[in-house]
Amino acid sequence: MRTIAHVDMDAFFAAVEILDNPSLAGKPVIIGSRDSPRGVVSTCSYEARAFGVHSAMPIRRAIELCPHGVFIPPRHDRYHEVSQALFVLLREFSPLVEPLSIDEAFLDMTGCEHFYSSLEDMGQTIKDAIRQRLKLSASVGIAGNKFLAKLGSGLQKPNGLVIIGEGQVEEVLAPLPVDVLWGVGAKTTRELARLGISTVGQLRGVPEEWLVRKFGKMGRQLFLLARGIDDRPVECEWEAKSLGAENTFPADLFDVKVLEAELLRLSMQVGRRLRQGNLSFRTLTLKARYPDFTTLTRSKTKSSWPRDDWSIFAGARELLHTLDLTKGFRLLGVYLTGLYPFRQLDLLEEERSRLTTVIDELNEKWGRTVIGPARVWEADD
Ligand SMILES: [Mg+2]
Repeated sequence: MRTIAHVDMDAFFAAVEILDNPSLAGKPVIIGSRDSPRGVVSTCSYEARAFGVHSAMPIRRAIELCPHGVFIPPRHDRYHEVSQALFVLLREFSPLVEPLSIDEAFLDMTGCEHFYSSLEDMGQTIKDAIRQRLKLSASVGIAGNKFLAKLGSGLQKPNGLVIIGEGQVEEVLAPLPVDVLWGVGAKTTRELARLGISTVGQLRGVPEEWLVRKFGKMGRQLFLLARGIDDRPVECEWEAKSLGAENTFPADLFDVKVLEAELLRLSMQVGRRLRQGNLSFRTLTLKARYPDFTTLTRSKTKSSWPRDDWSIFAGARELLHTLDLTKGFRLLGVYLTGLYPFRQLDLLEEERSRLTTVIDELNEKWGRTVIGPARVWEADD
């Protein structure tokens, strides 16, 4: 059972304009230039929506509906800046953040549940942090998958918080129009309407074989989504998907003892970041560059790895010894990919991580490595 949050800022561009010019608060703010009547509205405040204005509407039509509206040409650089601050904040809640647009993201909160008294508390904590730090309002949906989380964030906009628990899925979905289902556009909606199906509840009554015969692969998806089933993973961008550390040496290294000490140091760096992010990994990759600039990578994948520095180091060392060590190296790097939220697997792992936690805490307290394997210092000498 996963816990996925979808965070969506409310009327984002308009809200940023109001943030920067509080005298606009409470007014119908429309992002789009009045002087470009062929343009479209990119966002508008909820006050403007009350007049029937919505995004993607021609400016000319928006002027007709809301002649006293405050039309503001978009300032994309500024929105981008606020967006970056938003994503920094979201990554404090989960390392697995998938941006959907400038103001929207999925957070995989699986494994973080115990930090909060309830899923409501989790959602409210995220909303409060956004309110306090960015002075902006967001809507949040939390559910067991991406489809339901995104559906939830849209149900009570603005400033909404909707949790869709396993037991509520059927009840929430049944009355909604079929086009809330991911992938259902105007064409499918029309075809379903012709068959007398306009709500998700009605769609649930249709057998899977029938949907597959009618819609092919899409039919299977309709069948699953109508039941609130969606296995798509939260996919964060590459930076968040890998943890790595590498070092280019001032002089090429040949001594195996020194190379191993270097690998251990790198393993300690990535290991600490892995544990700080409360992550586990499946693939360990060694990156190596020979003095002639030839760069190689060697990887090893397991269903699970222990998360302590020594296990990472042992894996990296094994990979190092598959290379030609006589040529020397100008760079070594250790990368972890296939990251996923950490779950305590067995007692051995737990014992190891307790030791590792103490070492992490000591090193963090002093702001440098004050405790670690002797061979790192031996190599320095
Ligand atoms: Mg939004």
